[in-house]
Amino acid sequence: MKLFRYGPAGDERPGLLDDRGVRRDLSSVIGDLTPHTLGPDTLARLARLDPARLPKVDPAVRLGPPVGQIGNVIAIGLNYADHAAEAGLPLPRQPIVFSKHTAAVCGPDDEVWLPPGAAKLDWEVELAVVIGRAAWHVSETDALAHVAGYCLANDVSERAHQLEMDGQWIKGKSYPTHCPLGPWLVTADEVPDPQALNLWLDVNGQPCQRGCTRTMVFGVAVLISYLSRFMRLLPGDVILTGTPPGVGMGRVPPRFLQAGDVMELGCDALGRQRQRVVLAPLP
Ligand code: ZN
Repeated sequence: MKLFRYGPAGDERPGLLDDRGVRRDLSSVIGDLTPHTLGPDTLARLARLDPARLPKVDPAVRLGPPVGQIGNVIAIGLNYADHAAEAGLPLPRQPIVFSKHTAAVCGPDDEVWLPPGAAKLDWEVELAVVIGRAAWHVSETDALAHVAGYCLANDVSERAHQLEMDGQWIKGKSYPTHCPLGPWLVTADEVPDPQALNLWLDVNGQPCQRGCTRTMVFGVAVLISYLSRFMRLLPGDVILTGTPPGVGMGRVPPRFLQAGDVMELGCDALGRQRQRVVLAPLP
């Protein structure tokens, strides 16, 4: 299934994409797609629905992030061998784990803010994993059974605030709009091998990132198992699994985003996103 949320930011309703690509409204079936409705029982109930009986959704309406009330956005750094080489950094011996504030989450085609004082705004197309069942000390063998689904993500990053300040990366990773998710939550049954997904990202129509999850240093099952030794992963938690090569920081000379730039990104199995960069509004 491909599930989505639509409507004004903060007031989204749930939906389901039918086999012909028609958006259908799910609000008569579930209140919303949240940590409470991502478990195997609810997903099995949704899979049994006849989409033709659900009302159609206006195809022009805004899409929100495909999961609401996300509790945690956990991200992995330098998780592609070819990206680590581009950054001139050695392969990590263990997953590099950082966090993004959940208020960074936005819809797949929302505008991305250029924050005040930001001079090094960068892009990162990624595979995002959405947890459906709590995971605490799970084995690599069992790890994927805890996944509700996958979605496309852009781990937008302000490099100066991430890397040139003291302390943790979260400062350059958490601006509002810096975590577009979607368009769809693609349920795990439709992604039999999360290590065979091609990811791409263009800026202003120019190819920037091209990669495949095959070159991850630590695959999805390893990441879930590893993280579950340090924290209890909860339904609705999102794990960003790292970015393939081609980020702006890795170019010679570096290329950073300006207001007016347009990012387009995608993955065959997960859909596409498009974001225009705008100056952040201030109160
Ligand atoms: Zn990232």
